[in-house]
Amino acid sequence: MIRVYGNSLGVDCSLIRKLTQQTLADLIPNADVSVSIIFKDMDKHYGLCYYRTNRPYRVFLSRNLSLRQTLLTLFHELAHVKQFVRGELAEFIQGRHRLYRWKQKEFYLETKNSPWEKDANRIMYRYWRKYNGKRG
Ligand SMILES: [Zn+2]
Repeated sequence: MIRVYGNSLGVDCSLIRKLTQQTLADLIPNADVSVSIIFKDMDKHYGLCYYRTNRPYRVFLSRNLSLRQTLLTLFHELAHVKQFVRGELAEFIQGRHRLYRWKQKEFYLETKNSPWEKDANRIMYRYWRKYNGKRG
C-alpha cells in the first residue's frame, strides 16, 4: 500500500504514487511493503527514510524541490527501502551511538561515501534515466 501525504509544490501526487509503485515493484518484486510518502517543509535534507518494525516505511520528501530533484530524492529514498527490506542495511542505537550494519559489516558513521549511500545513488540515477527514457 502506497500512500502520499501532504503535497509537493511542483510535482503531482499521482506521479509520485505511480513512480513509487513501479520502482518498488522493480526493486523488490515479491515484497509486500507499505510505504508512506510524506511531503513536508524540510531545511536540512531533501529526503529521509525511516523504518519501524511492523509499520509502513516512511519516506519524507521536501515539498520545495524541482521535479528533477524531487524524483531523484524519491528514487534515492526508495533504494533505502529496498536495502531495509532485503536486510542489506540495518540501523541500531547502541548506548549513545547509532550503528549501521551493511551486508554484515558494522559502521559508526554515515557519510556520502558510505556503501549504502553509494548503492542508493546508483539506483537513483538508474531510475532517473529510466524515467527520462520513457518520457523522451
Ligand atoms: Zn541516503
